[in-house]
Amino acid sequence: TYLNLSGFGSLKWYRPLRLQQVLELKMKYPDAKLLVGNTEVGIEMRLKRMQYKVLISITHVPELNVLSVKDNGLEIGSAVKLSELLNVLRRVVKERDADETYSCKAFIEQLKWFAGTQIKNVASVGGNICTASPISDLNPLWMAAGAKFRIIDCKGNIRTVLAENFFLGYRKVDLTRGEILLSVFLPWTRSFEYVKEFKQAHRRDDDILLVNAGMRVHLEEKSEKWMVSDASIVYGGVAALSLSALKTKEFIIGKCWNQELLQGALEILYVYVL
Ligand code: FAD
Repeated sequence: TYLNLSGFGSLKWYRPLRLQQVLELKMKYPDAKLLVGNTEVGIEMRLKRMQYKVLISITHVPELNVLSVKDNGLEIGSAVKLSELLNVLRRVVKERDADETYSCKAFIEQLKWFAGTQIKNVASVGGNICTASPISDLNPLWMAAGAKFRIIDCKGNIRTVLAENFFLGYRKVDLTRGEILLSVFLPWTRSFEYVKEFKQAHRRDDDILLVNAGMRVHLEEKSEKWMVSDASIVYGGVAALSLSALKTKEFIIGKCWNQELLQGALEILYVYVL
């Protein structure tokens, strides 16, 4: 579909039906804005008076709406709506081994406090990620859960980047002008690997966060002690981007999981993050 909306100056609106058409449009208009729910772009255009010349609605592109349960995790197309994601996560939690779904449970809990139903019914996974808001509710969790982002360029070349490395600065991500986010891969958790979400806001319902976090720890039993073999601690709302507490992560890895470790970790956090 192509609409020339003359009432909006020279605004061009496209609604391609295949990924190949999206890539061709991106080649022709590298600065075009992709749209799914328009819950970010709509605010930019109406309230912040930002003007975009070309808008590409990707709601009807099947390749960007994939939701596929794989042996090692969940593949989520970038145009998948948050309500659809929530439904699949709930199903997966019922059907799969509990050990594998700690990340899924954390996303389900975080999505409960994400906007209202109307927004979740239209807003997309990719729209939230690519906006790279420092107060995104989901980006700290993608990072903590070890998610991987698949990125495709205009020529169809695909590269994969860890969510942890994707956010570069204030609303700045690792995407060139000719690239788009294709999909997100959320791995299942391993045995003794736990993921947890946190969100603190003025109200519980439908409110923007004051601070949030995503955390993951993988424990291994050695000489009858539980040792931290891997971890991730990511905060939202404390800096210009979702922020990994790297020093704290380094401090806890290799140590015994006990009260003393918690005290030490809190001291490092206080010095380096807060
Ligand atoms: P759009 O506005 O359609 O697009 C956003 C941006 O992403 C555009 O710049 C677009 O070009 C880019 N983009 C989209 N898809 C791709 C892709 N595949 N590749 C590259 N770039 C892409 N956010 C929270 O985190 N927590 C909340 O509680 C919350 N509450 C909200 C409440 C309200 C009332 C509103 C209006 C917004 C709220 N938001 C919240 C923000 C917003 O809803 C989310 O960020 C949403 O997920 C954005 O998705 P969208 O599809 O609407 O994005």
